[in-house]
Amino acid sequence: MNVMNGKKIARELEGKLKLEVLELTEKYKRAPKLIVVLVGNNPASLSYVKSKEKACKRVGIDGETLHLDESITESELINLVHKLNKDDSVDAMIIQLPLPSHIDPDTVLNEVDSSKDVDGLSLLNAGKLMNRQKGFLPATPKGIMILLDYFNIDIPGKEAVVIGRSNLVGCPTGKLLINAGATVTICHRHTKDLKKHTLQADILIVATGVVHLVKADMIKPGAIVIDVGITRVGDKLVGDVDYENVKEVASLITPVPGGVGPMTIFALMENVVEAFKLRQ
Ligand code: NAD
Repeated sequence: MNVMNGKKIARELEGKLKLEVLELTEKYKRAPKLIVVLVGNNPASLSYVKSKEKACKRVGIDGETLHLDESITESELINLVHKLNKDDSVDAMIIQLPLPSHIDPDTVLNEVDSSKDVDGLSLLNAGKLMNRQKGFLPATPKGIMILLDYFNIDIPGKEAVVIGRSNLVGCPTGKLLINAGATVTICHRHTKDLKKHTLQADILIVATGVVHLVKADMIKPGAIVIDVGITRVGDKLVGDVDYENVKEVASLITPVPGGVGPMTIFALMENVVEAFKLRQ
């Protein structure tokens, strides 16, 4: 079977993390605390926040969502972030994206204290990744690296191609793969001949949000294919990779749903525990 079952693997790893959280909670007389700040009622965000709350419960993290009206101003949101930065009972904070259009996400994300920034999106944590220093890694790229590690993928010397250049997924994933020793190509919407690049990939990471962008004839036989994309089509969640056909060519592949999504949530939980330990 060549499926990388992120859901099963994340649950297995969560089991170990739960034991660690139990020990830490006994030792420090309180559980790690994560605040999720959710602005507005974006349906996808509501569902992601629910998944995070459930994961917190499973692992023993005290997870709380602050659900704010979308009329909140940028300065009110920044004031809230400052309050949470100062609150000693809060170990970790995430600002659920996207924010309403009248709020600049970069401005707000950069106000999150870097020691509580478990999404790794503040300038300091992003800079640490660039400089190969230890900081909080964004959850999806970290989850992808945990998945590759779980399958003992020998990364040094491999050709890795990442499709997508966002600050959230594509760019940090590319940097982590470079740091791990891969030769990395980052493709994006202006790439002229995508197939020319993907056919070289021993490891292909796809993070575009374009349904079934990657077809079987774009895959080098035996490649490892990681599909980050999630798009709702009718009542189904669909990835960026034509899974049914690509799985016949790839040596390993992630399904959507049940691949990168659960690994992302696991990586976030690990970051929260890390933030808690740093504060003790
Ligand atoms: P984004 O919109 O910020 O970036 C998309 C990237 O894809 C851009 O860099 C763009 O240049 C590139 N792109 C778009 N069309 C392309 C094309 N035709 N050919 C080549 N490149 C193209 O999105 P994002 O935040 O990076 O997220 C990407 C996808 O991953 C979305 O579907 C999102 O929902 C999903 N996502 C999943 C998880 C998870 O946990 N599984 C986490 C974050 C994002």
